[in-house]
Amino acid sequence: MRFTGITIFVTGGAGFIGSAVIRHFLADTEAHIVNIDKLTYAANLASLLGATDHPRYVFERQCISDGPGLQRLFEQYRPDAVINLAAESHVDRSIDAPAGFIETNIVGTFTLLQETLRHYRTLSPTKRANFRFLHVSTDEVFGSLGPEGLFSETTPYAPNSPYSASKASSDHLVRAWRETYELPTLVTNCSNNYGPYQFPEKLIPHMIICGLANDPLPVYGNGSNVRDWLFVEDHARALSLVLERGKVGETYNIGGRSEQTNLAVVQQICDLLDDIAAGSTGTRRNLISFVKDRPGHDLRYAIDTSKIDRELGWRPLETFECGLAKTVRWYCDNRTWWRDILDGGYQRARIGLKTTPE
Ligand code: NAD
Repeated sequence: MRFTGITIFVTGGAGFIGSAVIRHFLADTEAHIVNIDKLTYAANLASLLGATDHPRYVFERQCISDGPGLQRLFEQYRPDAVINLAAESHVDRSIDAPAGFIETNIVGTFTLLQETLRHYRTLSPTKRANFRFLHVSTDEVFGSLGPEGLFSETTPYAPNSPYSASKASSDHLVRAWRETYELPTLVTNCSNNYGPYQFPEKLIPHMIICGLANDPLPVYGNGSNVRDWLFVEDHARALSLVLERGKVGETYNIGGRSEQTNLAVVQQICDLLDDIAAGSTGTRRNLISFVKDRPGHDLRYAIDTSKIDRELGWRPLETFECGLAKTVRWYCDNRTWWRDILDGGYQRARIGLKTTPE
């Protein structure tokens, strides 16, 4: 069995991707998981109900910018690997209030690297040889593509939003800790994730929830921005493979091979909702409206995944059509999960238009 006797720190494990990663490791491997999460607005321990009593799972409420707190956890659990998913992750929030992105994505990653290195240097030579620090990043660090071409692992960084700039910065820190201090790091850059348990501020759950309420479906600009969509469970599987077999010092692009315009995504959601939960007012496509574009909105992201395919044998298993249908069905069947978030104060209001950041 994979990861027998291995303890993995998963930071940001109460978030969307982190919780999928934890569910994957608990179900498909023998790894012991320590979920390290500060529990920001984006966290939800209800995404991990099946893990709570699992004998190989433990939760620690901890900020990754707090060095002494991290040091205590490293001394207590003595992990064999770290997967860093903790981040502020929403581009629109980064436009209005970038400070938290700098604090967690840059200072937090720096602090985590420092404490990981301190721990790494206490390990035996055998443990050191197998130790890994896997940093999870985004394709947004590469900037925007025109109508043609794909991001590869050698595409120069050109981030355009405060979010992507903070992630790019953290990627550089991770690289430097490998080159300078020989911490065995790897970086992955993935495309837009979607699937169950995603916080309702992101495009797909936002549109599903608005559509279910027969509320307007606000599409930024003219809806022609293109994203590549990666089903979150495919991503979790890729991360476990990179951790297990990836080459230290390398970066791997992970994508879903599913380019879609934002408008096409919203139209498909409308059609799925019409099938699953017919509304009283005709097709939900009538609810689509076009609103002021996001400042600095990148036109197109698309990912060349041939390296991870060739070197680690990973390919996405989910088509966008099937993954989206599963996702829409999940939000229809799990209304308590997202209603609790709305009842907790999340407003669904438009943000990300401030011209002067807080
Ligand atoms: P998310 O916002 O759903 O979850 C982030 C988690 O990190 C939350 O549980 C939050 O409480 C935790 N966190 C935030 N600040 C923290 C801190 N200072 N200390 C400890 N925990 C903290 O994010 P996600 O969508 O699951 O993304 C996870 C990672 O993947 C992020 O690094 C993000 O940049 C990256 N990523 C996400 C996508 C995507 O489409 N969602 C795409 C590419 C890359």
